[in-house]
Amino acid sequence: MKIIDGKKVSIEILDEIKSSVDIRVSNNLKVPHLAAVLVGDDGPSQTYVNSKIKACERVGFESSLFKFQKSISEVDLINEIEKINRNNNIDGFIVQLPLPDGINQENILSKVDPSKDVDGFHPVNYGKMALGIETFLPATPAGIIELISRCKIDLKSKKCLVIGRSQIVGRPISILLSQNKIFGNATVTVAHSRTTNLKELCINSDIIISAIGIPQFIKGNMIKKGVTIIDVGISRIDDKSSSKGYKIVGDVDFENVSSKVGFITPVPGGVGPMTIAMLLKNTLKSCSQTD
Ligand code: NAD
Repeated sequence: MKIIDGKKVSIEILDEIKSSVDIRVSNNLKVPHLAAVLVGDDGPSQTYVNSKIKACERVGFESSLFKFQKSISEVDLINEIEKINRNNNIDGFIVQLPLPDGINQENILSKVDPSKDVDGFHPVNYGKMALGIETFLPATPAGIIELISRCKIDLKSKKCLVIGRSQIVGRPISILLSQNKIFGNATVTVAHSRTTNLKELCINSDIIISAIGIPQFIKGNMIKKGVTIIDVGISRIDDKSSSKGYKIVGDVDFENVSSKVGFITPVPGGVGPMTIAMLLKNTLKSCSQTD
């Protein structure tokens, strides 16, 4: 079993971004600025936003956090987003998901200026991604591709199973991996909650990318020997031995599959840190486009 160390790769990427920022500063070019919009008081969302802001500090970016009450109306939130769109000092921003009930997520995401949409969720950028046109790729799929390519895992003609069809992970990664690109050319199958033969699909796959959010769902008897597994899932399970009383696990039962897998991403320390690194890479790209 070979561990795909997402934490290590993400640090390499953050170091590369930091070097680019240093060069920009020495050339009197603008320092990249990432902003985050956080609505409500969802605990995990606050944690994710804090990690993004901390990562900005690490690479020398400027960052801003726009926090709004859960009770903000959709119209007022759109006004705030339009203000950020007009703010020339901000190169890219994200709207932390999920948004509270009563706010239409698609409507909000479509109001983000596509040139600042470093999450790649605006319909224009998402459409470009699907068409294979250069754009901001959504951060988690981009992180998966970066991990696969830096680990030199060849996808060409491989049977790749994506489990989950969400708009932020499953759907975009399934599109990207089937494209005729250097990181693509896999034969991709997408499984989801209505799939009835998941075990059969898993056992016949060379690469499994799982984004379902069911803790330790994939077991050793569901996979073939030598498979590559990219575990996107993040779930909390009770753990009395931990001072917090819980631990973070992925969709894969790591211990149970370990004797059979070829490559695997751990949770934590796999896809998660890559997501933040790719978000910052998109922000650097956005900033460079305005030079
Ligand atoms: P989601 O939570 O929106 O949807 C889950 C998907 O899993 C759905 O498409 C559903 O059809 C599928 N599914 C559910 N049960 C299934 C089953 N029994 N068999 C097959 N498919 C099934 O998806 P999401 O937002 O992509 O999140 C998935 C997981 O990935 C969550 O744990 C989330 O926390 C995690 N995540 C991690 C990162 C990261 O950076 N590592 C980023 C995004 C999401």
